[in-house]
Amino acid sequence: MLSEDEVDLSLLEGRSFTCLEHCQLCCLHPPELMPREARYFRQHHPDRIERRERPHRHLSLAMRKGIGPCIFLVDRRCEVYEHRPSFCRQYPIHLHLGERLEAEPDLSCRGVWTGEGTELLPMGREIVKGRQRELEGALAHTRGLYRTFTETCREAGIHRQVEGLRAGAASLERMADLTYLGAVLDRSADEDPMESLPIRPATIDGRSLGRLRESIGEMALDSLRSEDIAGAPTYCDRAGRWHILASDGRRIRWSVLDEGGEVQEIDVIDGGEVWPRTPGEEGRRVFGEYMRILNARDSVLGYAYYLVDAYGYEDFVSNTYYGVLGTSAADLLWRSALLGHLFPDLGDGEAIREGILFYDMDRLGAPTLGRFL
Ligand code: SF4
Ligand code: SF4
Repeated sequence: MLSEDEVDLSLLEGRSFTCLEHCQLCCLHPPELMPREARYFRQHHPDRIERRERPHRHLSLAMRKGIGPCIFLVDRRCEVYEHRPSFCRQYPIHLHLGERLEAEPDLSCRGVWTGEGTELLPMGREIVKGRQRELEGALAHTRGLYRTFTETCREAGIHRQVEGLRAGAASLERMADLTYLGAVLDRSADEDPMESLPIRPATIDGRSLGRLRESIGEMALDSLRSEDIAGAPTYCDRAGRWHILASDGRRIRWSVLDEGGEVQEIDVIDGGEVWPRTPGEEGRRVFGEYMRILNARDSVLGYAYYLVDAYGYEDFVSNTYYGVLGTSAADLLWRSALLGHLFPDLGDGEAIREGILFYDMDRLGAPTLGRFL
């Protein structure tokens, strides 16, 4: 039985969600099948499951034309609702395992933003209760990984305590200001260790600000880069249309996906036309709230740890962590600007909120030293 200090459900507190008709964004991801579910689908729908190799070898439901949506979505309704996999039942909650188990709400789910309906906290408790044995085994494994990671960081002299890393929460909203954000990104790339946020932003002239916007654009375009349209970032708009936005480096191919898995190209956008800006008061408030959520998410920490490990324990954990927060902030501001460009009726706060709806599933989909279940 997992003890209370092994489970953190605080990110679910005070949140509710209502599943919205004509959304079904969550049905655009091939749901992984647990062994018991795989037995059911093998027996009743053997031609509607697929083997996948990433991020690990598993069975999932098939997607229409290989792109999506799920093969069982018909007229925006689930044909196997009573037998839908646990992935679908527990959405919009993701369970991240690292040093502890943390439940993280998916802010790409538009239903979470209604603030009404099913309370996420009791839902999270039920999910954890129903998967105790599986979670215990997986947590024992990820804890071992985190112990080894911490020891290696200590030996390399790059270790930082988690509480210290997260201590700058009050200043995260300042990353909405491009000058401050630029200073965070610059410092995080330095060889000297960053002790904490906040840092003192450098004064920046117009030309440097232009260069900063360009480099934010390059980073964000890279995050939309996709060779294969099936893996490209997706955004479900306010009317429930599924947009695919895939970059080839400089240009963005803008397409819509229909229920039959057909993709129709709408336009090709020059990434240089998208110009991130410091948001106004409401946009800043929404942005700050999201940054505080990122700072509290173990999966964001797990991503920073993953990068430290991948780059051979050469960079300070603090620099990598603040770099991850900074690039997340930059990506969000840029994606909000992109949506403002595509949908000019979006107001200041709305553009940031829609940017989060677009960005969060990719944030949650990033690699981590731990794992999601
Ligand atoms: S993304 Fe959220 S609102 Fe949309 S269908 Fe899934 S659970 Fe419902
Ligand atoms: S099984 Fe049902 S709920 Fe799950 S992805 Fe497919 S259509 Fe959506």
